[in-house]
Amino acid sequence: MDVKEEDSNMQKLAFIGLGNMGMPMARNLVQAGYYVYGLNRSKAKEDNFEELGGQRAESLAHIAENADVIMTCLPQPEDVEQMLIGDNGLLQMNIKTPLIIDFSTVSPSLHVRIAKEASARGARYLDAPVSGGTAGAESGTLAIMCGGEEVAFEEAKPIFDVLGKNITHTGPVGNGTKVKLINQYMVGMHTVAVGEALHLADQSGIDKSLLYSVLSNGFAQSKIFDRHYGDFISENKDEPGFALDLLLKDLGLADDMADESNVSLKAGDFVRSLFQQADENGYGKKDMSALYQYVKHIEN
Ligand code: NAD
Repeated sequence: MDVKEEDSNMQKLAFIGLGNMGMPMARNLVQAGYYVYGLNRSKAKEDNFEELGGQRAESLAHIAENADVIMTCLPQPEDVEQMLIGDNGLLQMNIKTPLIIDFSTVSPSLHVRIAKEASARGARYLDAPVSGGTAGAESGTLAIMCGGEEVAFEEAKPIFDVLGKNITHTGPVGNGTKVKLINQYMVGMHTVAVGEALHLADQSGIDKSLLYSVLSNGFAQSKIFDRHYGDFISENKDEPGFALDLLLKDLGLADDMADESNVSLKAGDFVRSLFQQADENGYGKKDMSALYQYVKHIEN
């Protein structure tokens, strides 16, 4: 169906941040028949999105004035903060009264601040971080954990159904992110376990593919082991996927959440320091599975 911008009755969506996750998510919405504006910092991604059938957004102001649902999937908390509530951010502009959904992984307290400002402008706001990686984004099978008011969640549900499979309303705004940060804490731990286990196999004369095949049938099996070994390490690949510096960001956010909850994450301190060192040694833009490479590097 060829949809035109001037069809004023048609619901218009906007997707800001066409990266490893955002591009396939926005593409799935286009393929589901939605009219979707795409906005990205590097313009080549907007060209790609147009080739996939999306609409290049003229500007953030154009999105503000025209979009009914505005979604963001940006790398860092500062990016989301500036985009939505910064001095030149969306909520300073002339907006319709949109539903705003953030899929990025940022902090629960930032979501609470954005939700307040959105509400003051008559908009609804949901934090809806995702899990399942680029494979889940491509195939529309992401797990989506969503915080916010029930009525806004119901409004977003048709969009979530295009993007994901396990969709859970986790409570008030910020609660989607609390669940996601606990998830990321465990992803960090599993990533270190996989990195060190494979390095130990190498150094003790055990073939990694044999180890993987045996452990895949026991208690050491995990989705992270499948992902890191199967998709990256055994293929000698380290292009992200999910960049190591993004996981480091999430481990910092999980640590802040632990502080606010009077919890000390003892193993987490060690895990985070290892990711910190890997980042400082130039591994930050590689896939998170490259922690295995870093573990080998420090020991050799
Ligand atoms: P990415 O770096 O691949 O993509 C981010 C995109 O946002 C880039 O295209 C970048 O150009 C764009 N961008 C950055 N700042 C911008 C701005 N101010 N205005 C417009 N565009 C801007 O990152 P990603 O891997 O897609 O991750 C995005 C978010 O999703 C992060 O918070 C990450 O933690 C989370 N996440 C990622 C994965 C994953 O597997 N990659 C999985 C779950 C959650």
